[in-house]
Amino acid sequence: PPAGISQEAPRRIGVMGGTFDPIHHGHLVAASEVGSRFHLDEVVFVPTGQPWQKADRDVTPAEHRYLMTVIATASNPRFTVSRVDIDRPGVTYTVDTLRDLAKQNPGAELFFITGADALEQILSWKDSEELFSLAYFIGVTRPGHDLDGSHLPPDRVRLLEVPALAISSTDCRARVAAGDPVWYLVPDGVVQYINKHRLYT
Ligand code: ATP
Ligand code: MG
Repeated sequence: PPAGISQEAPRRIGVMGGTFDPIHHGHLVAASEVGSRFHLDEVVFVPTGQPWQKADRDVTPAEHRYLMTVIATASNPRFTVSRVDIDRPGVTYTVDTLRDLAKQNPGAELFFITGADALEQILSWKDSEELFSLAYFIGVTRPGHDLDGSHLPPDRVRLLEVPALAISSTDCRARVAAGDPVWYLVPDGVVQYINKHRLYT
């Protein structure tokens, strides 16, 4: 083939966006499960900048959330962390995340991994046409969220049940604030990072 043109199959990249305040084993299991089922070469974790859904509470500074995500993913050779959302000024929109990652990974197929709760809102987003042109969407179910995907475009959306993990960042923060343990809900290094920087107290 001409120089620079590869005959290999396109690289398959999962994109796991989240606030990750803090990252927990629910996120990691979901990424691992989707990676395995969809034969992904890589899953990129993308901590949000200023999350528009969460304007009602103080989100931990992005550098802390970024570093916890790095700590949590460091040992997995297929997991990486991207700063695109935290380095882009302003509110994070998924369409910008996917545009940036598509630009950085020409020819790759992107698989946006999101919770069933969030996926249900996707059709209402004004950019949904462009979103579906940029990526496939993998909706992972979590405890308490039954997903009716019947109204979603079937060629661009897949649903996957991940082993039920009743873990949420909200619960982890509440536990730390109450002095309850978060060992085994989040990776050990993240427990230590939270304590070191006195987050969520
Ligand atoms: P919060 O409680 O602050 O909303 P969260 O636990 O939902 O936090 P996010 O950072 O908002 O974590 O989640 C990032 C992505 O991971 C979202 O798409 C969310 O639906 C998904 N997710 C969160 N927790 C789980 C879980 N236990 N299992 C599978 N997916 C999850
Ligand atoms: Mg959430």
